[in-house]
Amino acid sequence: MQSLYDLNYEQMGDFAQSMGWKRFRGHQIFQWLYRERVTDVDAMTNLSKETRSILKERFVIDPLKVVKKQVSFDGTTKFLFQTEDGSLLESVMMVFDYGRSVCVSSQVGCNMGCAFCASGLTKKRRNLTSGEMVAQFLNIQRELDKEGQRLSHIVVMGTGEPFDNYENVMNFLATVNHDRGLGIGSRHITISTCGVVPRIYEFADEHTQYNLAISLHAPNDELRSKLMPINQAYPLSELMKAIRYYGQENNRRLTFEYILLKGVNDQPQHARQLSQLLHGLNAYVNLIPYNSVDEKQFKSVTRQEAMVFYDLLMKNNVRCTIRKEHGQDIDAACGQLRINEIKKGLGQ
Ligand code: SAH
Repeated sequence: MQSLYDLNYEQMGDFAQSMGWKRFRGHQIFQWLYRERVTDVDAMTNLSKETRSILKERFVIDPLKVVKKQVSFDGTTKFLFQTEDGSLLESVMMVFDYGRSVCVSSQVGCNMGCAFCASGLTKKRRNLTSGEMVAQFLNIQRELDKEGQRLSHIVVMGTGEPFDNYENVMNFLATVNHDRGLGIGSRHITISTCGVVPRIYEFADEHTQYNLAISLHAPNDELRSKLMPINQAYPLSELMKAIRYYGQENNRRLTFEYILLKGVNDQPQHARQLSQLLHGLNAYVNLIPYNSVDEKQFKSVTRQEAMVFYDLLMKNNVRCTIRKEHGQDIDAACGQLRINEIKKGLGQ
């Protein structure tokens, strides 16, 4: 059944109108969902009994069930959810000094097949609906409501490739971004892609204020194609062309993510190639310590080795940061919790 979370503000108004109701009914429903965060249609007390029963016949509110929660000593909390068709997905809440951020999954499994990633260990089962992405946010926000806390940031960096589920991801963001919805500012929203070039052009043309992050992970085609199969479809020359186009169209700083894999992409020549590749772009590089994945051979660099790479980039005028690690005492690597539960036979 469709979820009320699938409809963005405009669509909720359209739906109300299509039922012969005032458009304002849509506005009221939206308020109940996102301001009051009710999970039961009968709690929408300013709607008539008849309106409520029509809603209940056609929609559920929350399409997800929390099946597991892991809390780390640093406050990082992982949520494992189950959808109505039995799929498992995970989301992570992280605590920063600037606020609380949620990392949202966009697909069940992933087809991108990056060599180092746990998410791709299972092929994509399906795209998540926008309502299922909204529900990841709201389930966590409802827990935080009890403590008087709020989620202030969203990163679409969980399992899945958001630009392989473009429409639903954009619809989800429209709802969380809407000032009558959850009111998360565009600049507090980041979408991360492995480099689906046609969607980068499309995204650039939409001129949203969302941040874009590119998972680069290698500074030359030979290495990148080995680590990330998407590079065979869209090699670096095409990716960088799309990125430059994005830069022309959007006056926004771009983030490049670069996992440091010991002995693979962490050598001085890689830092040099990387700085050449990014020369002249309004960009910064987020150096990411690798979260080891049982099924994969890759190892992370030490903090010291990361610093050497960092210094080389800075010397070559590339701005960069080393990402702080979160939740190391829980199944922190992307997709790891879901994989472990699938192995135990809990779901798919
Ligand atoms: N498909 C999108 C978003 C999901 S992955 C993308 O590729 O950007 C989010 C980020 O986590 C990507 O940069 C991805 O390469 C990185 N990642 C995947 N597995 C990781 C691991 N085990 N340790 C650290 N980062 C990882």
